[in-house]
Amino acid sequence: MSTDGEGGERNSEAPMVPDDRPSVIRLPAEPVVLRGISGSPGIAVGPALVIGDMRAQYAQRHIHTAQIPSELARLEDAVTRATRTLRDVSAKVVGAKDAQPILEAYVLMLGDPMLHEVVRRKIKVEKKCAEWAVAEASDEIGAAFGDPRERDAYIVERRHDVAFVCERLLRSLLGEAPVSLSLDHPSIVVSHDLSPADTAGMVRGPVLGFVTAVGSRTSHTSIMARALEIPAVVGAPDALTHIRTGDMVVVDGLTGTVTVHPTMTMVVEAHQRSTAHLAFARRLLESKDQKGLLGCGTPIALKANVELPAEATLAVDHGAEGIGLYRTEFLYIDRSSLPTEDEQYEIYRAVVHAVGGRPVTLRTFDIGGDKFASTFQLPAEMNPALGLRAIRLALRQPDVFATHLRAMVRASAHGEVRIMIPMVTTLREMREVRDHLAAATADVRARGLPCADHIALGMMVEVPAAAIMADLFAKEADFFSVGTNDLVQYALAIDRTSQSLAELASAFSPAILRLIRSVTRAARANDVPVALCGAMASEPLAALLLVGLGLRELSMEATAIPEIKESLRRFTLAELEPVAERALMSASAEEVQREVHDAFAPRLVDLLSFSQVGSAILPVGP
Ligand code: PEP
Ligand code: MG
Repeated sequence: MSTDGEGGERNSEAPMVPDDRPSVIRLPAEPVVLRGISGSPGIAVGPALVIGDMRAQYAQRHIHTAQIPSELARLEDAVTRATRTLRDVSAKVVGAKDAQPILEAYVLMLGDPMLHEVVRRKIKVEKKCAEWAVAEASDEIGAAFGDPRERDAYIVERRHDVAFVCERLLRSLLGEAPVSLSLDHPSIVVSHDLSPADTAGMVRGPVLGFVTAVGSRTSHTSIMARALEIPAVVGAPDALTHIRTGDMVVVDGLTGTVTVHPTMTMVVEAHQRSTAHLAFARRLLESKDQKGLLGCGTPIALKANVELPAEATLAVDHGAEGIGLYRTEFLYIDRSSLPTEDEQYEIYRAVVHAVGGRPVTLRTFDIGGDKFASTFQLPAEMNPALGLRAIRLALRQPDVFATHLRAMVRASAHGEVRIMIPMVTTLREMREVRDHLAAATADVRARGLPCADHIALGMMVEVPAAAIMADLFAKEADFFSVGTNDLVQYALAIDRTSQSLAELASAFSPAILRLIRSVTRAARANDVPVALCGAMASEPLAALLLVGLGLRELSMEATAIPEIKESLRRFTLAELEPVAERALMSASAEEVQREVHDAFAPRLVDLLSFSQVGSAILPVGP
C-alpha cells in the first residue's frame, strides 16, 4: 500500500517537506536511513505524524485525603470511557479479522482486578493523583515480568500489553482524543509504540504506514498492521530521535528500513517498488488455493505457525494447508490464574473451526527457559534454557498438564487435532506423555464427551539428543517436527536471545544441516512423517535447501507461504538434492550460504527482492 505523497510531484533532488506544514524555515536535510524490523510488508511514502508520549503530559500531584473519593471516581470514569472507546474501535474493524480478538483482550485487561487494585492502592494509600497512579502501576506490573533487558518476544509483548492498557487509561484521564482523530491528512504515524487499539482505530483513517521505536515481527502491532495491510517498520530505535512531525519519510516494510528526508530519486524508486510489490503480492495470492508442489510435481505441504488464535484465519487466507505449530503457551502468559479446561477447549475448538477441516497441530505449552509465565512458580536457574522448560515442566505439574491435554482431546471432536511435545530429550518422556494422553482421553470419554478415536502424538526435534536418537524416537512418536530455532541454540551453544552472538547462530551451519538430514532419514526409514517448523522455513533459499535435505512438509509464518509456494514451483527435486549434498559437505555456514545463493537466487530474483524475513533470520555471509 503506498501513496503518491507530495514528494511525487517534485522534480528536484531537494529533500521534501509536506505542503501544509507550518512555515518554519529549515535547512534542507540529508536523507537518513534508519534500520528496524519489517512489521508489515509494503512501502509507503508521506509526511510523518509523531504521536507523543502520554507520560510527558501529566503532572505528578499528591492529593488530600478528602480528594480520594473524587480521584477514585475519575479513575472509574476513565476505565468506562477507555472501555467504550476500545469497543467502538472493535466494532469498526469488522473487516480486519485479527484485530477484534486483540481489542477484546484489551477490554478484559482494562477490567483486570490486579491492575485496579494496584492503581487504587496508589491513590488511597500513597495519595497520588490517578494519572500518576496509573503510570506507576504500569511500571510496577511491567517490572513483575522480570529483567527489563529480557528479549523474549512473549515477555516483551506482555510488558507492552500492560503499558498499552495503562496508556489508554492515561489518555482517558487526560481527555485525549483518539489518535485517529488527529490525522487530518494522509500520514505515516511514528511513535515509541502503538497499541493495537491505536492501529485498529486508524483503519479508516488516512494512515499510510507505521513506524515504531520498539516491537518485533510477532508484536501485536505488527500482526494488526499486517491484518490491515498497512506497511510498518517496528523496532527502529532511532525513530523518535530523527523524525519530526512533517518530515517526509519512506517506510519500507519489506527491508525494515525508514528513510527520513528522502531525495526525489528515492521517492520515485519507493513508488516504483511499491507498485511492483503490490502487483507481485496480488499475483502470489491468486494461487493460494493451489497445493505446494515442486516443478517436478513432488508435493510439499505448507502449513502455518500461529501464536494467537486469530492468526488461524490469516493462515487460511494465505493458503496454509493446516496449522503445523500452534504455540499454546500464549494462553498461559500474562495472567494471574491458569486457563481452565473449558477456556482452553473453546480456543482450540475455535482454531480447529477457523481452518475448516485442515489439520491442526497443538503443541503442549513450552514454558520456562526464555518463555516465562507468572502462573508457574519457576525456580531461579543459572541457565534457564537448559532448565525446567517445556515437557520437563509439564511432567512436574501433572494436574496442569492433564487439564491441558483434556482440553486438546475435547477439541479433537471438531476436526483433525494432533498433539506435539516440545523439547523432548529422552524416550521416557515420550512414554510418560503417552500415558498422560491415554488418561486424559479416558477421562473425557468417561464424562460422555466426544473426541476423536485416535489422536496422533508427535514431538519437536529441537534438542540434539533427540535428533541423534531419531531412529529410536521414531518408534515412540507418530510424527516429528524439527524446531531449528532451538536446535541451533542447543547444537551451536548460542543463547537464542543473545543479540551479540546472533550473527553466529546460523541455521545454515553444516552441523545443523547434518542433524536435519539424519532426522529426515530416520523418519523415512521408520515411516514417520517429518516436518520442520523453525523460522528458517519462512525463507525461500532455506526452504529449498530443506526440501533438498528430505523435508516434504514445512510450517512457517503464514504471510511467507505464498512466496515459498512460488519458490518451490521453480525447482525440481533433481535440482535441489545435489545442492543439499554439497551443503552437507561444506565447512561453514558462510560456505553453505554461498552455495545455496549461487544455485537458487538467480531464479528467485523477484521473490528475494520482496522477501520480508530472510535477512532477519539468516545472517548474511561475507
Ligand atoms: C523451534 O524451536 O524451532 C520452534 C519452532 O519452537 P519455538 O520457537 O516456539 O521454541
Ligand atoms: Mg523450540
